[in-house]
Amino acid sequence: MLRSKEVCQILELVRAYSVPIRDDRVSKLVTWYVKALQNAIDMIWDNIEWKYSFPKIVRKGKKLVVIRGSKVRIPIIPKDRAFKKRLRDELMKDNPYAAHWVDAVIRTAYSIMENWRKRYLKGRARKIKPRIRRRFAKCKITLMKIDYEAKTIRITLKQGEYLYVSWRSTWFEKRVRDWIVGEVIIFDDRVVIPFKGSEEIYVRRVIGWDSNELSLDGYEPSIGFIHVDLRPLQSIKITYERKKAIAQSKGKRELYEKYVRRERNREKDFINKLSAGLRRILPNAVHVFEDLDKEDLVSRKRVKNRRKRNARTPWKRIHKRISEVALTALVDPRNTSRECPRCGYVVETQEGHVFECPRCGLKMGRHKVASINIRRRYLENRKRKTRMRGFPHSNEPEITMMVELWVGVAQSGRSPVIWIPMKWDPEGDEAKGRGLDIKQYQAQ
Ligand SMILES: [Zn+2]
Repeated sequence: MLRSKEVCQILELVRAYSVPIRDDRVSKLVTWYVKALQNAIDMIWDNIEWKYSFPKIVRKGKKLVVIRGSKVRIPIIPKDRAFKKRLRDELMKDNPYAAHWVDAVIRTAYSIMENWRKRYLKGRARKIKPRIRRRFAKCKITLMKIDYEAKTIRITLKQGEYLYVSWRSTWFEKRVRDWIVGEVIIFDDRVVIPFKGSEEIYVRRVIGWDSNELSLDGYEPSIGFIHVDLRPLQSIKITYERKKAIAQSKGKRELYEKYVRRERNREKDFINKLSAGLRRILPNAVHVFEDLDKEDLVSRKRVKNRRKRNARTPWKRIHKRISEVALTALVDPRNTSRECPRCGYVVETQEGHVFECPRCGLKMGRHKVASINIRRRYLENRKRKTRMRGFPHSNEPEITMMVELWVGVAQSGRSPVIWIPMKWDPEGDEAKGRGLDIKQYQAQ
């Protein structure tokens, strides 16, 4: 049953693949690049202007909104022409490579500094000059000549001297057919090539997802509720928190770092499998999430009434990965778990797992309520944009409240295990025919 008209949307895809390289010139280039990059950062850092910024409250309609709560010092990164020229001239003094390489260095330096500034203003980075620890060189497109026929990239080192990288007969050659090559990153032993492609998706489903501590809870009328188990992700965290604490207490720094890397890898693996699984079993869909960045900005008073979202769950990484493989959208997180999906009544406070509407008497799990609201918010925004009448709080949930799709990623196997209730038979899902690792079971 299709409720909304099919809309074609373009999903931009970016995949990076690496090609091994053996060339003495590469290490030399990387050594120069890292040194120049650190010099650029040093120079920008030394020219930062620190300004005081005072508390700021502005009126937005009837409300007063706090933009800054207290007096803070704000770093102003120098960007004027004169400074940039001085920076470039300085870097050119010790540059055996093409001038574009200096521009590449400057651009990377600025992006590192902007990144640091953002994190600093959010309280996530300290007032410490960024240090380049990894050996790499990010290229500029102006230094690259791409031959799509021969599947070869020619990178200019200096005039008349080139580095050639080819993706012909690589394992990923077919995957990136007709895709566009982006700016490569050069390491001592390999070149990472980002490929950009796009996919047309005919949207038949809009799925609202509520992001919770141990689960992702989704809703879409033709499927019903979808429950994605995130407990394995939590157990990875817990396991490594313990291991890291032990390593730290024994002062074993290398061991600690090893655990950090392993934890990252296992988490990444889980998120990748989960995202691939969702893409496969829920094709032709837009996945709607709450905009958690907006949630951070909500004033302190409101936070009290807000449900706690566990910092342990790497939400941003999950959302990011899903957005790389499927269409996604974000909505304002306000009141998503406090608004009755049937009559629209907003309850003041809501505790426990069950939502109860004092006006119409609806009783439903809180995550389910939120997923319905998140989905509806997206559809309402879309309608508003196309100047159509918003549609009422309604009846939708009840039709499909009885069915629930369970999705999980098996830790043991290589591919994700997806559980699908017997009743559900999505159209366009070829998974079964391909003999993928899908188990079916009756939802309880
Ligand atoms: Zn109600």
